[in-house]
Parts: sequence; structure tokens; C-alpha cells
Amino acid sequence: FSATTSAETLTVMGAGLVGSLLSLFLARRGHTVDVYERRADMRLSGSVEGRSINLALSDRGWRALEEVGIGDEIRQVAIPMYRRVMHDAQGNLSYQPYGQDNQAIYSVSRAGLNRTLLGLAEADPRIRLHFNQQCLSLDPRTRQLELRDTITGQEQHTTFRRLFGTDGAFSAVRSALQKTERYNYSQSYLDYGYKELNIEPGPAGEWLLEKNALHIWPRGQYMMIALPNLDGSFNCTLFFPYEGPHSFASLQTPEQVQAFFEEVFPDVVPLMPELTDEFFRNPTGSLVTIRCFPWAFDDDVLLLGDASHAIVPFYGQGMNAGFEDCTVLNQLLEQYGDDWHRIFSEFQRQRKPNADAIADLAVYNFEEMRDRVGDPRFLLQKKIEARISAQFPGKWTPLYSQVTFSHTPYAEAWQSGQTQEQIMSRLMPHIQAEADYDRPEVQALVEQEMARRG
Ligand code: FAD
Repeated sequence: FSATTSAETLTVMGAGLVGSLLSLFLARRGHTVDVYERRADMRLSGSVEGRSINLALSDRGWRALEEVGIGDEIRQVAIPMYRRVMHDAQGNLSYQPYGQDNQAIYSVSRAGLNRTLLGLAEADPRIRLHFNQQCLSLDPRTRQLELRDTITGQEQHTTFRRLFGTDGAFSAVRSALQKTERYNYSQSYLDYGYKELNIEPGPAGEWLLEKNALHIWPRGQYMMIALPNLDGSFNCTLFFPYEGPHSFASLQTPEQVQAFFEEVFPDVVPLMPELTDEFFRNPTGSLVTIRCFPWAFDDDVLLLGDASHAIVPFYGQGMNAGFEDCTVLNQLLEQYGDDWHRIFSEFQRQRKPNADAIADLAVYNFEEMRDRVGDPRFLLQKKIEARISAQFPGKWTPLYSQVTFSHTPYAEAWQSGQTQEQIMSRLMPHIQAEADYDRPEVQALVEQEMARRG
């Protein structure tokens, strides 16, 4: 990090995953950073909302963590997941590797990661953390900020020079920008909600399902997934329609929940002793995609993370994309020094198409996970893609790998993924089993497609 020529006092709103990481990037360039967070300090109050919920961290996220020097520390508490394990309704398993041999996505505790980032922020003398401070409103023109202390209820007015809005999907900073002229905004909800449930560890703290994997119970119109925790437990998330024959609306009693799970997820029911209690105790979360533009107001306000691009969770990329925002902003700070106007406008110019692409990809992947991963033809197609990738090194990277294991801009990855999908739709009618790939006529088709692709 090269320190900036003119250090400033900057304001970050929201100390979630992206805000706490961003404050570290800004401070390491020599700025003083005031960070305001609505919640209490989660390091003092035990786990967030009493639960340890985990997230999949992948290459884009790792890069940002490594840049601020905490990659190794987080790696100690991250569980690599090398493959998807699909559970069918009879409890039979099938497998799909995520990438090449040692490629993995990593299960990390959201609260643990956030606490580590806050601890580092606290240790930096240039960062001042202000907890229990909720942003009520702000005026981007006059740079006035209205905050409320969530404990005493006291309100205070203050000013900022430059404000970074990292206050999440329902951002108060974005709400203020929405009142400026010609502001574009859209939000779109899926007809699905999600419910978090728990798989208990075994008696000796062991994992009762394969540890180093992401588990999926694909069921066509809905699905459940599970990610491992360090203590031997797994966090499950059921993605389920709000309405309809199999839906949150149709499961109203503990008996209905128990019977439904025994029918469709029979292999995990014995591992979920608190199933029905949790089902009714835990809230049903909604799934929203939020798009907006611009993300910057002059050189005064900039949105990052979910505040500017909230996406549905099916590619495991929301946090990773927010962390990549920090990496990109940091590169621009390096490149353009104190020209904040240029930095903010270049940031949104570069990032917006990529945020739109990952938003689309995330919706697309929902269908793949809940439906297609249970289809043997789909799994065969993935095997064939792996063969093509091995035969033409550097010329064919599966879409999932481009998104998850590369730093290729999301928009480029999406584009090339669509081209590859078209090629596969022409090849697959000629392939009934993996061995068919070696047949001369199939090889000729593959050569022809690859030559045409250039
Ligand atoms: P947030 O984490 O929402 O943080 C915003 C912070 O701002 C919070 O601390 C909040 O208290 C604070 N705040 C809000 N309003 C105010 C206010 N008015 N004043 C002051 N402070 C305020 N991403 C992945 O990469 N991998 C995954 O596997 C993954 N799984 C997910 C599963 C689910 C079910 C969901 C819902 C999301 C998942 N995500 C995942 C997405 C990820 O959670 C988000 O992208 C990430 O949390 C965004 O970070 P953020 O800091 O921008 O926002």
C-alpha cells in the first residue's frame, strides 16, 4: 500500500463484511476512517442472532483478504469443500467436483469472519468504530448525516467529507441517493423464501455427513443445502416456495413438517433432532435482487457491496463480489491517487456490468442447483466439459470455475459461459455416455466447434 498524498477523514456506514474490510483498505492508505454500525459490537454480544451461519468464500474473496494480510488467519478456520454431494429422495448420493483436484470453495462462519475483520479494524489507530449508531438520513448535497444511538435513542447531526455506503441490501445511504434526480432503482423478489436449520455433530464432535463438501438435496421446485462448521455441525438452508402445494404456506404444524421432511429428505431427518422447533422458531428469509445506478454522487458518496448490488445467494458470490469491490477500489486508489472524482466514476463504470452479470448468474444457478444437478444428463454434460477443458488447456474453462476460481470479470465469464452452453447443446445429442467422447465422429465435432470458436 502506498500512502496517499493527502490523507482525509473518511466515513464508512455499516460494519458488516464489506464495510469492515473496506475500512482496513482505506486506513492502510493513510486515511482516518470513522465507521458507523447500527448493531452492537458483535465481538461482545456472542454470535449474531444467536446462530452461527456460514458462507462460501472463494477466490475473489480470498484475494481481498490476502491483500489486507489476513488470508492465512482465515484459512485456519475455513473448511474446504471440494465437491457437491447430491442426495436423492432415496438417500442415494452422487458427486460433482467443483473444479480441478485441489480447487475448493470454503465454508466460513459469517460472524467469525466479521469479528476478525472488526478486531483488525480496532487494532488500527486510524480506524474509529462507532457501534449502536444507525444512519437515519443524509443529504448528499450538504453532506449532513443524521444518526441515532440505538441504546439511548439520542439523535445527532454530523457532517462527512466522503461517505462509503456499505450498509447492506436495505441501505439508508442508497435511500438518500434514490431521492436525487434521475436515479435508477429496482428490486425483485423470488417467490421463494429460505429457512435455516441445523444438523447436529456426532457424539464425539464428528461430522455426520461428508465434511469437505457442500451437500445438496435437489428436488425440482425446491432444494436444501448444507455447509460444514468447525464443531462438526452443518448449517442447512431450505429454499422453498412461499405458496403452492409444497410450500411454507402448506406446512403449518410440526406434524406436517416432520412428515414432509421424512418423505423428501429422509436421510437427514435423523440428524436433525430439533427440526420442527427450528422450523417454527427461525424466521423465513426473503430473496431479493436489487439493482441501482449511479452508485456515486459526485466525489462525495459511493455505494459498495449489497448496498449497490444485492443478489440471491445461489452462486455463493454476494460477499465475494463485495470483497472484489474493495479490491477494485483499492486498485483505482493506487492508480489515480487523490482524484476521487475519477476513482468513483471509474469504479461504477467498471463494476456495474459485472454486478449485473453476477445478479443474473445467481438466479440462473438456482435452477441448476434445485433441478439440474439431480439429472444424470446434466452430470454427464459436466464430465464432458471437463474432458474438453483437459483437451484444450486454456481454451475452455467451465462457467462455474470462471466465476468461482478466477478473477475474470463476471460479465466476461457470463458471456463465455453462454457461448459454451450453446456448443454443449449441439454436442450432447451425440453423447450418451462418457466413453462416447472418444468416438471419432464426436471428436470431429468437438474439433470443429473449437476451431469455429477460435
Ligand atoms: P451486510 O452484510 O448486510 O452488512 C451491512 C451492515 O450495515 C450490517 O452490519 C448492518 O447492521 C449495517 N447497517 C444496515 N443499515 C444501517 C444503518 N441504517 N445505519 C448503520 N448501519 C447499518 N455471499 C457469499 O459470498 N457466499 C455465500 O455463500 C453467501 N451465502 C448467502 C446466504 C444467504 C441465505 C444470504 C441471504 C446471503 C448470502 N451471501 C453469500 C451474500 C452475503 O451475505 C452478502 O453479500 C454480504 O453479507 C454483503 O455484505 P455487506 O457488508 O455489503 O452487507
